[in-house]
This record gives sequence, structure tokens and C-alpha cells, in this order.
Amino acid sequence: MSRLAFLSPHEADVAGVSPLRHVQGAAFTDVSELGKLEVRGDVDLLEAIPVGPGRALVVLEGDARSERDRLVGEGYRVYDMTAALAALEVEGEDLMRRLTELDLDALPAIGSIARGTTALIERRGGERFRLFVPQELGQFVAEVVNDMAQGHLTLGHSDRAMNVMQERAEVNQLLGIDSRVVLPDEIARLCPQLDLSDKPTWPIMGALYHPPGGIIRHDAVVWGLARGADRAGVEIHPYTTVTDIEHSNGRVTGVETNRGRIEAGAVVSATAGWSTLVCGLAGVRLPITTHILQAFVTEAVKPFLDVIIVSAQMHVYVSQTDRGEFLIGAEIEPYTTYKSIGTFPFLEYSARHTLELFPQLERLRVLRTWTGLCDLSPDYSPILGQTEVEGFHVSAGWGTYGFKAAPIVGTTLAELVATGKTPDLIAPFALERFHTDTLVSELAAAAVSH
Ligand SMILES: Cc1cc2nc3c(=O)[nH]c(=O)nc-3n(C[C@H](O)[C@H](O)[C@H](O)COP(=O)(O)OP(=O)(O)OC[C@H]3O[C@@H](n4cnc5c(N)ncnc54)[C@H](O)[C@@H]3O)c2cc1C
Repeated sequence: MSRLAFLSPHEADVAGVSPLRHVQGAAFTDVSELGKLEVRGDVDLLEAIPVGPGRALVVLEGDARSERDRLVGEGYRVYDMTAALAALEVEGEDLMRRLTELDLDALPAIGSIARGTTALIERRGGERFRLFVPQELGQFVAEVVNDMAQGHLTLGHSDRAMNVMQERAEVNQLLGIDSRVVLPDEIARLCPQLDLSDKPTWPIMGALYHPPGGIIRHDAVVWGLARGADRAGVEIHPYTTVTDIEHSNGRVTGVETNRGRIEAGAVVSATAGWSTLVCGLAGVRLPITTHILQAFVTEAVKPFLDVIIVSAQMHVYVSQTDRGEFLIGAEIEPYTTYKSIGTFPFLEYSARHTLELFPQLERLRVLRTWTGLCDLSPDYSPILGQTEVEGFHVSAGWGTYGFKAAPIVGTTLAELVATGKTPDLIAPFALERFHTDTLVSELAAAAVSH
């Protein structure tokens, strides 16, 4: 028997005490009570998680002693690690990607989690993962998991809004999405910093809660997509402006750029706020208007907000970044423009609405603001696929929510270009719908930028 037996609650005949007992949260399940035996020897023969040459972890429900005795009897060296390792289970690949850089397709593996803590990570099937970490760091890791899980709350401030939230939750659930309506007592637990009193102009009656909702670093994602495209052999030409789109006999034939002509039998315009101008070069008119959308960040303060708060009524969204800055955005400006400079009215109304929700931010200073162009279609849905010019395709009209759609747009438009057939998924979004009067209203989803 190992001299480290004191690490086993079973050996001492006491009830185990979880190292995660002081951390609560819906983001993980505490499975620290599992029996854990580190086995050394010719472990290839065992049904166990390999943790290194000649080392493996055997995980057991309940008392580990009989299995330990059996393995010792077979000549293995066995260390009872039950109390030495905290164990937690989390759901979701997105969450895991925020927690670790380990390849999730090559698990089990040992590596860094939560920026520097060593963990053994195992996939439990589907998107469920089990993490084993040294017990003294278990609480820290569990808290990071809670923070990273974030969660997205869309606030409701009226009976009507609450009815809409309920309908949205039900639709989401039918589609297998983790989404439900929560009332102020639960909001207070999820976000104690929020002013839930009757002082705000529109007091909070409830919220639509999406626990896996989170923020991704958009520049990292874009670079990741670019790197993937490059690896697949795609040529990327930055600083190259399309100045004309050649077409004859109803077919596209090429594009003229400031760096020369490119012959092309298929062209996709994915130029968002500039779509009407670029598609106009091909003679294609789009029912799109271009507006500006603004956002700003405050100076950094100690982290205190780990959920994302959106209010469609107040037209504002608020989250806190990893660096501690508050990121605040609103809805598009109601007028059309290509002038992408920030405006004072935006700063004023979004700051005012934010302070109604979080009065404690009153003294924060604005660090920087930015503005981008957004392309809005009449029914707030994107325009995807073929146009009347054969071979000339479009992705436009994404307005304020096109970032998250980029991968599926890339996949479906690539399929269209390769096969000449419009994938079913994007068929309802054809430009033609504005002639056949088969609009796809996404006004509710686009009610506030997100
Ligand atoms: C402040 C702000 C916040 C946002 N927040 C979110 C969010 O939280 N979630 C979300 O999903 N979406 C969000 N969006 C919307 C999202 O950014 C857009 O819907 C998305 O970027 C559109 O992607 P795209 O590839 O179609 O176009 P873009 O990313 O706009 O790219 C269009 C490209 O076309 C290029 N171009 C234009 N004219 C020409 C030409 N003649 N020749 C060559 N190139 C040309 C432009 O330089 C640009 O690089 C936000 C937008 C803004 C402005």
C-alpha cells in the first residue's frame, strides 16, 4: 500500500470533503468525490486514462480500496489520489476553448488550463469534459470556469417584453438551445451588481437567460479564419480595392482592382456596409441602407461583471472585458451615412442607460470609441446567394449581427459556388424575395446589436 494513503478519505474512513465546496455555480458539476488511483507500471493493459509513460489514472465511483488492492496484487504501484485531485465536469466546447489551448480532439491530455494550472482533461462524450486539477487549485479553477461561462441576459422591462421572452425561450428550446426566462431573484444571483430596484426608468421584470452566451475576441477569430483559409490554399490579397465588376450577356466575367484585373467565372461580394456600391458595379441593385453602429470602452476597473447584459428597451448592451474595461454598445444610428466617426449623442444616451442599470459606474471615464458601417435590409434578414447576374453572388444585409454568421455563410456560399446549387439553408434569404414578397422578418432578433 502506498504511504500516501492519507490522501484517501476511504482509507481514513471519513466522508470526503470537496475542495470545491466554497464555489457554487451552474457552469460546472463537482465530481471530486470520485475515487482516483494513480497507477504506475505497465499501464497500457489497463482501462485507465494515460497520464504519461508508465502512468495512468483509474477513476472509480465510490470506495477505491478494493480496486487499489486488486491492482497492487497485479504488481502495479498504486497511489490513492482521491483527495489530492479536485474534479469538475463542464459542458461545451466553446467554454473549453476559452479555458485551454489543448487540442480538444486529442483528449485525454495534460496541459495548462485557466492560464497556467496543470490539468488532466478528458472528454466524456459529446461536449462534456472532465477536468482533474490539484486540489489546492481546484477552487481557483472552478471560479475561472464560472467566470468564463459568462451567460447572456436580455432584460425584460414590461409584460409585453416578458411574453416575447417566453416565446423566444420556447423557440430556442425547441431548437435545442439552452435558454430560459429568469425572474429578478435569479437575476440577482447571476448579476448582483445590477440595479433591480424600481429606481430605473424601466425597472427589470425578468430576463431571457442563455447560460453558454459569451464574448469572443473578434480579431483572433478573423485571424484564425484567415490562417485556415491560407492553409487550404486560398490566396488573400489585402489592400486591393475592387474598382469594377465585369459582366456581359448576363454573366460575370471578372473584377477590376487597383492592382490589376482578375478573370473570374464566379464572384462573391461580402462587403457589408459597402454592398450597394460594390454590387452596383455589377449592375445589381440591393434594397440595403448603410448606417453606423458605435461602441465604446471605459477605463479598466477590477472585474465585477461576469455576465453580458442586453436591454432591447434601453437599446444598450454592457459587458466587462478580460482587461477590466466596460464594453458598451447600442443600436445603429437611425440615419444613413458612410461617415464613420463617433457621435456625442450616442455616448450620452448609452452612458445614461448604462448608469440606470449600473449606477456604480458613474465615475468611470470613457477610454475610446469606435464606429463601423452596417448594412440593413428591409426585413432585417441577410441577403444571400445568387443575383440576376449569373455567377455573381452576394452576402449582405447582416446589419449588426453578421460576425457570428461568417462561418456558415462561408460554408454555404462556397457550396453554391462549387455546385451551382443554392443550399436549402440559405434559399429563403435570396435577393429575389423582395420581388416575390416572401420576406423573412428578423426584426426581433435584430432589436439590439449583439
Ligand atoms: C460596433 C459594431 C459592433 C458589432 N457587434 C457585433 C456582434 O456583437 N455580433 C455580430 O454578430 N456582429 C456584430 N457586428 C456586425 C458585424 O461586424 C458585421 O455584420 C460583419 O462584420 C459583416 O461581415 P462581412 O464579412 O459581410 O463584412 P465586413 O466585415 O464589413 O467586411 C467587408 C469588407 O469589404 C471591404 N470592401 C468594401 N468595399 C470594397 C471594395 N470596393 N473592394 C474590396 N474590398 C472592399 C471592406 O474593406 C471590408 O474589409 C458589429 C458591427 C459593428 C460596427
